[in-house]
Amino acid sequence: MEIVNEEILLPNLNQFCLHPVYFSATIYPISMNHLWSPWRMEYIENHNKTAGCIFCEAQKRADSAENLIALRGEHAFVILNRYPYTSGHVMVVPFEHRPNLEELDSATRAEMMELTARCTKILREIYRTESFNIGANIGEAAGAGVKEHVHIHVVPRWVGDTNFMSTLGSTRVLPERLEDTYQRIRAALEAG
Ligand SMILES: [Zn+2]
Repeated sequence: MEIVNEEILLPNLNQFCLHPVYFSATIYPISMNHLWSPWRMEYIENHNKTAGCIFCEAQKRADSAENLIALRGEHAFVILNRYPYTSGHVMVVPFEHRPNLEELDSATRAEMMELTARCTKILREIYRTESFNIGANIGEAAGAGVKEHVHIHVVPRWVGDTNFMSTLGSTRVLPERLEDTYQRIRAALEAG
């Protein structure tokens, strides 16, 4: 899909949300370039190597900046997005491998919402974030990246973060290394 004059048509993500086609193309563009070379190289080298579900695989490994799980609850966990839209982009994921929210039990859904709120709280503290996009892409047509295992995205937003580089150049500058973000978020979540 080609996006033309995106900045003029859709100057911020809130407006993208009103236009699902643009939202999907903008959040998960195949050709987006990231000006963070170690991270980008990791993407290039590992993009097609993961076998099975990334969320189930992450659960099997010890929590660290490798598997990116920042907190494990009773029924769900918080994991950083390896290819974040903005710094602090996390996901709340049930332990159970299910594609839809209605297939989870009530306790799991309740904990997912509690963890989502806990994420916004600590992200406000760490990054002075005042705005968030929170949501789930369920099913292929909705743009789900991992459609077999439902998850809630929590994306911190700042005024001006959709700049000309991301909207016109499909390039986003991430100001912090992912490992540093992981350590900060993990410490904040553990502190409560
Ligand atoms: Zn899974």
